[in-house]
Amino acid sequence: MSKLFEYFKIIGNLKQVNRTGWVHRKVNNPESVAEHMYRMAMMSWALPSNTDLDRDKCMKIALIHDMAESLVGDITPWCGISKENKSKMEKEATDHICKLVGEEVGKEMYNLWMEYETQSSPEAQFVKDLDKFEMLVQAFEYEQRDNKPGSLQSFYDRAKLKYKFSTDLVQGWCDDLIEKRAATLKDKSDSDSTSSEQSSIVEQRNQAVIALPSKRDGEEKREL
Ligand code: ZN
Repeated sequence: MSKLFEYFKIIGNLKQVNRTGWVHRKVNNPESVAEHMYRMAMMSWALPSNTDLDRDKCMKIALIHDMAESLVGDITPWCGISKENKSKMEKEATDHICKLVGEEVGKEMYNLWMEYETQSSPEAQFVKDLDKFEMLVQAFEYEQRDNKPGSLQSFYDRAKLKYKFSTDLVQGWCDDLIEKRAATLKDKSDSDSTSSEQSSIVEQRNQAVIALPSKRDGEEKREL
């Protein structure tokens, strides 16, 4: 197989690698790494034109930032692999892939991947923001799809604890998302309390019925 076809095949693997976070939480039919990166690239394309960021560069970083997972899988803190080992494995995988596409493109890919790894440019920082934001969007969509509002709260909690968005743009998108999600959670709790109010009314009614002397009792009393 030529090097280029090996590259095509390896990149194709990304369609089969499910994102571990969803697998771990037993989300049905979870997305692949390829799907996650594709939406991030499309989000980058939607960058407003008044930004100082290089849109094409952001799209390219978004498309390759998880490329190594085609060979090493989606390693998360649940996998029991140290941060250093993870980084080493991903670096070797990226290096291997970049050597398959010819020197010029390979070098560009590797440099952009390195930029993301070291967070050494505003574009890399923006894409890192998108990485978290896209995950939160996806978590919200799964909650809605599976009709389980709030079930993936831990992803929001972790993002809040561990991550501060470095760009105002993505922070603003995230604030909007949180607001949108909070509204659906409120709708759910309103409808829950309405149904529990209704059920307590039914309960009270049943108790009242039990407390009332039956007709037969009354009749018997009268007979006495
Ligand atoms: Zn990612």
